[in-house]
Amino acid sequence: MQNVLKALGIKEVNEGCSTGLNWFSNGSVLESYSPVDGKLIGKVKSASKEDYNKVIAAAKSAFKFWRELPAPRRGEYVRQFGDKLRAKKADLGKLVSYEMGKSYQEGLGEVQEMIDICDFAVGLSRQLYGLQMHSERPNHRMMEQWHPLGIVGIISAFNFPVAVWAWNTALGWICGDVCIWKPSEKTPLCSVACQHIWNEVAKENNLPEGISCLINGNYEIGQLLTEDTNVPLISATGSTRMGRIVGAKVAERFGKSILELGGNNAIIITENADLDSTLVGAIFGAVGTAGQRCTTTRRLIIHESIYDKAKERLAKAYSQLKIGNPLDEGNHVGPLIDKDAVKNYLTALDSVVKEGGKIIVAGAVLEGNGYESGCYVKPAIAEAENKMKIVQHETFAPILYIMKYKTLEEAIALQNGVPQGLSSAIMTLNMREAELFLSVSGSDCGIANVNIGTSGAEIGGAFGGEKETGGGRESGSDAWKAYMRRQTNTINWGAKLPLAQGIVFDLGI
Ligand code: NAD
Repeated sequence: MQNVLKALGIKEVNEGCSTGLNWFSNGSVLESYSPVDGKLIGKVKSASKEDYNKVIAAAKSAFKFWRELPAPRRGEYVRQFGDKLRAKKADLGKLVSYEMGKSYQEGLGEVQEMIDICDFAVGLSRQLYGLQMHSERPNHRMMEQWHPLGIVGIISAFNFPVAVWAWNTALGWICGDVCIWKPSEKTPLCSVACQHIWNEVAKENNLPEGISCLINGNYEIGQLLTEDTNVPLISATGSTRMGRIVGAKVAERFGKSILELGGNNAIIITENADLDSTLVGAIFGAVGTAGQRCTTTRRLIIHESIYDKAKERLAKAYSQLKIGNPLDEGNHVGPLIDKDAVKNYLTALDSVVKEGGKIIVAGAVLEGNGYESGCYVKPAIAEAENKMKIVQHETFAPILYIMKYKTLEEAIALQNGVPQGLSSAIMTLNMREAELFLSVSGSDCGIANVNIGTSGAEIGGAFGGEKETGGGRESGSDAWKAYMRRQTNTINWGAKLPLAQGIVFDLGI
């Protein structure tokens, strides 16, 4: 791991603030322990209030430069950033895996998402189209154009320590915005590594300070961002608890926000499902990243005719899961992020039983050789009712609730019957079932899939969810519009000044 850290510019103690070339920080120290083996990986200094002000000043000044560059020119810098990510994919993927605890394959996948969004953004930098409308007045032209917003504040969660930042920043940059990143205090080293990569691009191209800024620290630094009128857009990824506070704070000052919050995702398995592929999708969705994805499959809603068979096969497959070091590609499940997460997992399992659920595959905290960090747990399955409090709540751990249904309408009502609305799926080979699920009477989630699981979205689509998931959209499709302001222009090229709606205003001149 030492070689990886060195290649990414990580030291024992790192400055946690950067404006593009310079590093500085005068706040308290964050210690990053790996959930893989419990060892201290490195320390990162937080931003103080003064550091924060320095970053804002640099970003404000950089915006004046950056917004004047033609968008395809900005795209060229994003292309260079993407190329550097390609070169560092293995190292950065390994750091993601070691600091966050997801498998090395998923760490690589995260860096690939960064590369993909860079490619997408480069193309988009030539496609920031506005519409042209027909004016109701003669010799008039009406059109809309898109301008950058200014500073985008990006608050990110621990479970996607690099990709979510890239989704936001690559789009923000080509739109002409400058970005300030407040990463999770649980994965600060990943953010330092990413900033080093951008800094190389900035240096090689003589770009000014402030286009990409980093401010490490806990929620208090996040609060400075959310309350700051210098920051017109906050893109916040994390728990619904955090989003409720951040959303209200930003709205209070008439700022814009993109909220990407918790999920409580279900797969409906109908009697017409191909059970073999269904089980692969469901199990990867439930135990991948140790149940710590916003799109993790938390509930399986299974038709009563195949319920017992599915339950039996699930339990058998769970008994074959290998739990251990995520850098060892032979393992299926890595650790939870920290011991607090383990506590939440145990409390949730207790609650299931207290509320009348039945454990099908028991959970446990693993101990002994290879499990010294105390963060490894056994994925569990419980039979539960949708209305149970614990089922309505997103527990960020590998606990899968299963329940049965009779009619598809009932299954859809169960699927929609939670406060969150991120991802959903139906497994069926029957076209009518699939189309009903996707129809206006079907899933109420931001993502609705057929014959694939709930997790693992591609960057080309707009990503996000409804209800308590926050309503934000990031990444593909036209998500870029959230990073810009729309301006409608009407141009009169005639000799007269006709008013709209035919209003007559005769001054006799
Ligand atoms: P969290 O809410 O604890 O923290 C997320 C970030 O918000 C951190 O950087 C934290 O410092 C910051 N923060 C917390 N309180 C704040 C406040 N009052 N003001 C400003 N910033 C504040 O979440 P977490 O434990 O890091 O991540 C797990 C959660 O994130 C889960 O609920 C998961 O579903 C969600 N998530 C959602 C998506 C999505 O796209 N919908 C993606 C990833 C994770």
